[in-house]
This record gives sequence, structure tokens and C-alpha cells, in this order.
Amino acid sequence: ISSVELTEHYLKRIEQFDGALNSFITVAPELALSQAKAADQRLADGTATALTGIPLAHKDLFCTQGLRTSCGSKMLDNFVAPYESTVTARFIEAGAVTLGKTNMDEFAMGSSTESSFYGPTRNPWNTEHVPGGSSGGSAAAVAARLCAAATGTDTGGSIRQPAGFTALTGLKPTYGRVSRWGMIAYASSLDQGGPMARTAEDCALMMQVMAGFDSQDSTSVDQPVADYSASLNDSLKGLRIGLPKEYFASGLDAATADAIQAAVKQFQALGAEVKEISLPNAELAIPAYYVIAPAEASSNLSRFDGVRFGYRCEHPADLTDLYKRSRGEGFGAEVKRRIMVGAYALSAGYYDAYYLQAQKIRRLIKNDFMAAYEQVDVILCPTSPTPAFKIGEKIDDPVSLYLTDIYTITANLAGVPGIALPAGFANGLPLGMQLLGPYFSEARLLNIAHQYQ
Ligand code: GLN
Repeated sequence: ISSVELTEHYLKRIEQFDGALNSFITVAPELALSQAKAADQRLADGTATALTGIPLAHKDLFCTQGLRTSCGSKMLDNFVAPYESTVTARFIEAGAVTLGKTNMDEFAMGSSTESSFYGPTRNPWNTEHVPGGSSGGSAAAVAARLCAAATGTDTGGSIRQPAGFTALTGLKPTYGRVSRWGMIAYASSLDQGGPMARTAEDCALMMQVMAGFDSQDSTSVDQPVADYSASLNDSLKGLRIGLPKEYFASGLDAATADAIQAAVKQFQALGAEVKEISLPNAELAIPAYYVIAPAEASSNLSRFDGVRFGYRCEHPADLTDLYKRSRGEGFGAEVKRRIMVGAYALSAGYYDAYYLQAQKIRRLIKNDFMAAYEQVDVILCPTSPTPAFKIGEKIDDPVSLYLTDIYTITANLAGVPGIALPAGFANGLPLGMQLLGPYFSEARLLNIAHQYQ
């Protein structure tokens, strides 16, 4: 099959099914077909890579030159970036095809893709349910076979939680492994791009393209990139898996707990040793994250002022009016809430009480992981307390939505990598679990996920 045929196949599926799912904000058939033609040429002349001609979708916060990048916001509804993000540039260089840009929570703030300016995305397994978020468009598009694989970003779980809600495999790499250049910033010390795909094998191929040093990102780590596919078939004999007891306490849905117990048996059958461990500061993660992430967001989002790019209000009376109304009209409710919380936490009188405390907790959480990795190689735990909830169920109660991030945000605070993988189904909805590893253990995580699958 040629890349043009494959691309046409996916474009047709998008046309047929995306009306019901709303997983794409922008579909780019012309761009995709011209890239597919070029890919077929490369396949013919022997310059192809593993991803040449493979149709992908990108979360709509990776800047793409000449193709709108909205970040799920009215603020950037008209924004066409003048440059390409490092991640998407690497995919283009590898010869992959860009089918379009996927729906997401506005500025990646959310866990359900309901805060998008473009309306919610629906979960293909049950369209009354959310696909998770913030990378819910990418998750739904891959799960519904509207693209071969997709990119996502994970600040507090936005790759792993939607992967769990849609039966996909999604990898949040070590902080600094994948370049953030050209990725619209939410919380810069937590944001990390990664692959969302049907299998660990596909994630490995995607990671091979995405990972690597980038001098344009000051937090990019200059360390050799592993061969992510080479170790997929390594044995799990002797692998030490830890189950953090705090993650299996109250609040965890029974079907998810059972599914993880079944997975434990399978890992043991594959030769792994499983034991209980402790991450004692886990319960502090939500309050710390919901200070740090909004604080960084309030600073990052100050650039959207109606002057340089993005939405500008009509007929401003003066400069202050232009700032106020452009931001007031351009940002949605959740984004405004985060900006207010963040600006408050950073303000002179409250910095010590909130931001500084949160940073100290962050260090304790990191230390918990470091201590755990002295006893075990990886940590196995759920991705979220419940399977996908219903659209509308939590949107009016932000705190209940924040609480769903309880198992994912610790990895971002510590900067360690995590892979979400399918753990089964209950009542027709996917259950998710994740493996967290030490810094730069992506190849091992992919190997374990592959052996399990
Ligand atoms: N749900 C979390 C938040 O709203 C995480 C989102 C993300 O990882 N981008 O901040």
C-alpha cells in the first residue's frame, strides 16, 4: 500500500467518523497528500525511515508552519505559527504525514477535553463519555483509527490519562528528553511531549524521532538517545516491580484495582518480582501541583496580550482596555481560573506560603521516587481513580476534576518517565495502568509494556 492510499484511507475515516467524535480541530488534506506523495518518492528511492509515509496527528499545541495552531483556545483561533516545533519538524524530516491537529483542553488545562473552545471530544468506546485530557483529541483519533498514531503532551497526566481512557499506550518521557521548542507552554517545568499509539512498539518508533537534544530548548538534556525498538523483546526475568501502597488505598475504582492485580499475576508469570513499596508524600501531590502549574501558567500566558499575536478585541478604547478585553474575551473560564490562582500564589505576600511550600513538597515527592528506585526497577499503579467519566459530569466542579489527576501528577513533579498501557475493560470502558521508571528509562518501560502486551 502506498502512503497516498494510506493517507486517503485515514482522511476518509476522519470525514466519516469525526463529526461524531470531534477529535480534530484542523484537518489538512492538501498538506497530508503532498507529504504522502513525497513519502512515496522516498520509499521508492530508498531514503525512507520507519515512519516515512505514516499518517500522524499532532496535538494542537505543537506549532506547525502554515497550519493553524489554536491550543484549543479562542485566543489562538487565528494563529498560524511562523515556524515549526522541533517535534513536528523531526516528524516531517522522517517523512511522516501530518493529517491535522487534534482537539485538547484549552491551553492543556483539563482532564477531559471539555474546556476546548472547539467543543468536547467524545470517547470512541462510548460517545457519552470523555476521552480524557488534555490530549483527548489525540487519544480519540488514535483509538478510532483516524490516524496511525499521534503526539500528546503531559504536564500532569495529559498523555497517560487519555491513553488509559481509550485503551492506548502513551509515553510521558523524562523531563528534558523531548524538546519543548515550539510547544505552546503551559507549565514549563512539567510539560513534556510524547507519543500516543496503539502499541508500545509504535510508541518506540515515535520516540525514536521525538527524543534528542535540542539547543533551542534550554532544558533539553544532552544525553545519547537509546534505540527504543532494540530492547522490546528483552526478557522481564528478575524485573523488580513496586506497587505503591498509597495508590491502592481508598478512592480507587474496584474494577481498576482488580485489573491491576491480574496484571501483577501476568508480570509474575513473565518472571518479574512484585512487592509493595511506599511513596509517603503522594497525598501532597495534588495541592502542590495545583499551585506550581497555575503559577507557571500565569507567567507563560502573560504573553497573550492582544498585541503581538492571537485574539484582539474590537475597538479598544486605549491600551489598558485592549489588554483587558482581549484577555477577558480570548481566554475561557478554566484558563482564567488558573491565571488568577497562579498570580495569587506568586504575589509578594503569598509567595512563601504557597509557591515556596509547593516547591518543597515537590522535592519530597522526587525524593520518594529516588528512594523507591533503590528497591525496585519500576513502579506499577493505576492511571486514574476511575475509567472515563461522562461528558458534563465533572465540568462544573473543578476540584473533583483536579482530583482525577492524583496518580499521574507525581511523575511530572519528579520529572520521571511513565508509560500508560491498557489493563482491560469494565462495562465497555477501558481501564488504564501505568509503569513509572527512573530518569531516562524509556527503553525499559517500552520493553516492559511490549512484553505485557
Ligand atoms: N489535568 C491536569 C491539569 O489540568 C494535567 C493537564 C496536562 O497534563 N496538560 O493541569
